[in-house]
Amino acid sequence: MTSDVARGFRKTAGEVYRAEALDGFSWLTHGFGTRHSRHPDNLATLHQIHSDIAVCADGRRGLIGDGDALIADRAGSLVAVKTADCLPILMADVRRRRVAAVHAGWRGTVREIAAKTLAALDANPADVHAALGPAIGPCCFEVGADVAAQFKKWFPERGDLDRRTTLDLAEANRRQLLAASVPAEQLYVAGLCTRCGEEFHSYRRDRRHAGRMFSWIGITASETCGGSAAAPRSSQP
Ligand SMILES: [Zn+2]
Repeated sequence: MTSDVARGFRKTAGEVYRAEALDGFSWLTHGFGTRHSRHPDNLATLHQIHSDIAVCADGRRGLIGDGDALIADRAGSLVAVKTADCLPILMADVRRRRVAAVHAGWRGTVREIAAKTLAALDANPADVHAALGPAIGPCCFEVGADVAAQFKKWFPERGDLDRRTTLDLAEANRRQLLAASVPAEQLYVAGLCTRCGEEFHSYRRDRRHAGRMFSWIGITASETCGGSAAAPRSSQP
C-alpha cells in the first residue's frame, strides 16, 4: 500500500523513491522512478527477457543487449531496468564500488537473477547493500498453482503453494539474497505495491496501456576503488 513506505525509503524531488542507506554513499547515485518521474540521460539498458543473464555495461550507454541485470564498474556509468509490477533491485558493492540494476519478475526470481547478479559482481556479500523497490505486492500478486509451486524453495513454511494463491516477490528476492549471505540489515525493502499505488505503472492494472518505470544506479565519483582487478562477468556464457 502506498501509505506503507518501509522505513528507510523516501520520495524525493521529481517523484523518485530512494533508499536512504544508498544515499549514504556519496560515490553512487540511484532512484526508483514512478509514472511521474524523469530518468537521467545516458542510462544503459537491456532488452529484458525474464532471464538470469547479467551484463557488464563497460561504460556503454543506450540499449546494449539482452538480459535482466546490468553491472556498472566505472565512474560515469549509469545502469537501469524498466518495470511495471516486476521487482527492481539496485545493489552496490560498497568496497569495490560496483553497482547493479536487476529486473526480477517471477521468472527471473525462480531463475535466481538476484543471486546470479551478486555472483557476477564478484563481491564479498558482506560488502553488498541492496534496495528492493516498488513492485506488485502480496496484496495483488495472485498466481496459479504452476507458478506458486516454483516458489517452494523460498517459502518452505507455506502449505498453499500447490494451488492458486498470492506471492510476495520482494520477500522471495530478499530471502534469495539472504541465502547468498548478504547481511539482513543491508537489505532494504520499499514495501510499495505498484498495482495499488496510482503513482506507479502496473501491468496487471493497466495491461497493454501500462508504461514502464525506470530504476537506475550509477557511479559518480571518479576516484578509483580498491579491491582486486577481477572483472565482472556475465552470469551465463
Ligand atoms: Zn497491491
